Amino acid sequence: MTHKEKPPVTEEVLADEVTEGLQSESEKLPNKILRYSRARERALLILDEVTQQYHQTGNPYFSKISDKLNSCGNYLSFRHYYTVDKVRLHAASFCKKHLFCPLCAIRRASKQLSSYMQRYKAIMSENPSLVPVMITLTVKNGDDLLERYDHLVKSVQVLNRKRTRARTGSRDKTEFSKIEASVGSYEFTNKGKGWHPHVHIAALVTAHIDQQALSAEWKKATGDSFIVDVRPIGQIQEPIKGFLEVFKYALKFSDLTSEQQVQAAVTLDARRLLFSTGLFRGTQVPESLIDEPLEGLPYIQLFYKYLQGIGYTLDPEKSTKSNNI
Ligand SMILES: [Zn+2]
Repeated sequence: MTHKEKPPVTEEVLADEVTEGLQSESEKLPNKILRYSRARERALLILDEVTQQYHQTGNPYFSKISDKLNSCGNYLSFRHYYTVDKVRLHAASFCKKHLFCPLCAIRRASKQLSSYMQRYKAIMSENPSLVPVMITLTVKNGDDLLERYDHLVKSVQVLNRKRTRARTGSRDKTEFSKIEASVGSYEFTNKGKGWHPHVHIAALVTAHIDQQALSAEWKKATGDSFIVDVRPIGQIQEPIKGFLEVFKYALKFSDLTSEQQVQAAVTLDARRLLFSTGLFRGTQVPESLIDEPLEGLPYIQLFYKYLQGIGYTLDPEKSTKSNNI
């Protein structure tokens, strides 16, 4: 595979998955294949790390994960509906261990992003006075990822609980009580100074959120951190740019070393990294990582198999044209 150039940043990867852009879907396919090849390549590095952990610990959990990673994404079968120039991923086997596997992370994040963008548009059409903002809350770095995760989650829950109580009239108003809908994700980076935990929240608000007041509330909730950031989304850029921040969390694991990624994935595997409140609650995200087919249209099947060291390669023998419908 010829990809010595720097891989695209996470936000661009995700944006390209879900936005229409200037290129048609068939024109976008080669880049998608390249992205998926890189993701699979990274997944194989993670597989090596997991296998090593299994040999060191004998823990059957690692052997289960390595089996899953091993069989994930060995082939990808797309359908190109050439009369409408749409491309859909029709079949693949996915491990669905998205914290370990960058390929599943891309597919899942793009499904989540599409579902929440759809919901966002529906909410805004019924409540046009709401203003979308991006809120980032940070807690202090630390070496113990689980302890930092718990601390961050509990602190966010304090703000969300106060919001609920204020809205039912039983407590004073807070900055969060201006939020009508929010969707947020917990993200963890590590650049050598311990785990840096933070939360990105896309929120639809009824009034301006005061950064200083929020900072004071956050300090009270966390006891050790006051760093918050609030900025409007959707005014200068498309709202999707703000939402990308929220849904890139699992893709960001690929910025860690493979050892750190496995450590983080093991620690956070069964934990919730995405949450929603208010009007965003109940947004349905499809479980399946493949795409819905387009019924009744002729297509060309494009079957790619993964070859180690090369990437996804089209298999002409398995790539066929459908009978004319
Ligand atoms: Zn996978």
